Amino acid sequence: MGKDSYEEVIAGLQKLLSESASLKPEAVQKIEQITSELKGAVAEAVSPTVEKIKTGFETFKKNIYEKKPEVFGELAEGQSPKFMVFACSDSRVCPSHILGFQPGEAFMVRNIANMVPPYDQVKYAGMGAAIEYAVLHLKVENIIVVGHSRCGGIKGLMSLNDDGSTTTDFIEDWVKICLPAKNKVRSQYGSLPAAEQCSKCEVEAVNVSLGNLITYPFVREGVANGTLALYGGYYNFVDGSFQTWGVNYGFTPINKI
Ligand SMILES: [Zn+2]
Repeated sequence: MGKDSYEEVIAGLQKLLSESASLKPEAVQKIEQITSELKGAVAEAVSPTVEKIKTGFETFKKNIYEKKPEVFGELAEGQSPKFMVFACSDSRVCPSHILGFQPGEAFMVRNIANMVPPYDQVKYAGMGAAIEYAVLHLKVENIIVVGHSRCGGIKGLMSLNDDGSTTTDFIEDWVKICLPAKNKVRSQYGSLPAAEQCSKCEVEAVNVSLGNLITYPFVREGVANGTLALYGGYYNFVDGSFQTWGVNYGFTPINKI
């Protein structure tokens, strides 16, 4: 029901209440209850949340969508992004903002601490499906895993109980994907303050994810054939820097064997 319809109903009920002398007390009470509920619904319909979404979309539509009809016309027919991006769900690290990806340019997966799990059809089907689709169907040419400063997921990984016990339903099990990064940082930088160890782990975890990507046969094949390149990235929003590095697994291209 639209906002206007709600308001019409409320106005009708209020009119009825103003003529309540002829109504039974129970009827008056019922009408007051319905009026109050409807007022709540109207408040919800124009809540700051809805307003924010509405204004956001209107701004996008006016400034971008309507200004590039050829781009969006083409995108309506299909997508052929050259990039697949793994980024953290963290609200500060949206790849479209920090790397300027436009609609149609990057196929994205965002999750806690931008982790790529190893190939596992049961445990990580969701991630596997995204990688399979990007590589085999969209034929992306690059996969970039972007880590970032002050990552809560990496902090969680570094704080995992050594005895393997967990207190969360999902988070700790998920971040364990990058346990090898934690172990490496602990052994090489164990004397550094906790915050610095986390920073080291934010980068190392990206490398673990890049290694995990290779466990997907279609990724391995693409890298070996030279049709797919893998990159690590690290966005530091504390000092406003971005680093990127390539990965060379030294594979012999399959088609040359
Ligand atoms: Zn994060």
